Amino acid sequence: MIELRGLSYSYPDGTPALRGINMKIDKGERVAVIGPNGAGKSTLFLHLNGILRPTTGEVIIDGKKMEYSRDLIKIRQKVGIVFQNPDDQLFSPTVREDVAFGPMNLGLPMDEVEERVRDALQKVGITGYENRAPHHLSGGEKKRVAIAGILAMKPEIMVLDEPTTGLDPETADGIIRILLELSMEGITVIISSHDVEIINQFAERVFVLNNGKLIAEGTPREIFRDAELISRASLRLPRTADLMNRLRMAGFEVDVKLTVEETYHELLHLLGGDAYHLLLHFLREEKQHRLIHILGEEKYHQLLHALKES
Ligand code: ADP
Repeated sequence: MIELRGLSYSYPDGTPALRGINMKIDKGERVAVIGPNGAGKSTLFLHLNGILRPTTGEVIIDGKKMEYSRDLIKIRQKVGIVFQNPDDQLFSPTVREDVAFGPMNLGLPMDEVEERVRDALQKVGITGYENRAPHHLSGGEKKRVAIAGILAMKPEIMVLDEPTTGLDPETADGIIRILLELSMEGITVIISSHDVEIINQFAERVFVLNNGKLIAEGTPREIFRDAELISRASLRLPRTADLMNRLRMAGFEVDVKLTVEETYHELLHLLGGDAYHLLLHFLREEKQHRLIHILGEEKYHQLLHALKES
């Protein structure tokens, strides 16, 4: 378990980056830390394996207060950080050497190092890349190598700063799938992200940071139900939640749903199954837009309402 108690940090130039953070993350949890640029997410992460030392407050891992001494070696085995930019992490001429770097540093025997490299590459789905040069790989492949390098240390906690930034949606989904698999193996996984869809897909619990302070904590549903909070944190709602919130404001009794699947069922429920299918059948997407255009939004909603009644 990770616990932060009254954690504050100012950079040496005096910039305050974290202000009195209290946080608990249980073993095996999947957590997302969200917030606008400059909120303090990266600074927070750098405290989790002792790269930064709090100005005040403390970091407690598995009940033990972090000591900034030789103990840090043990902490860094336990808590692995994958940086936002893989180029900050990958520096060896080949993928094999890069992934082997950590276990070699632990002084493990060669066959154990090889086994760990093989396992890690297999878990992130890039077996066969051993002799490739990391700096010639695509963004998604580099990210996988960076994750493998941390996995080869057999960490209990993995911290990933914006793991999907700059990746196309399919590649990003691939990375999230890997993280979900690692979570199923019992690893605690903590990410930061701006991507609301990714947060929904991944996180069991969300922490919202703003201006160095923790301003909210809850399940994705609790967080994204609060439109005011989301706007205060300069984030946007998932498209589905946005739609449902608008329907609520227009007087419809719907619940905010986060996934397309749940939203579909909620709308089906609202409209009554037959009417909904009828409507969809008649109105392919571009036709829906045309109809709204012709009728005006109010009449369009009246029509939807009438369909529901019928
Ligand atoms: P986020 O990851 O949420 O974008 P950061 O943790 O990078 O936020 O930054 C938090 C605050 O700390 C910002 O005001 C940022 O300008 C400042 N900051 C980050 N790194 C440094 C640094 N090396 N020196 C001084 N200030 C920094």
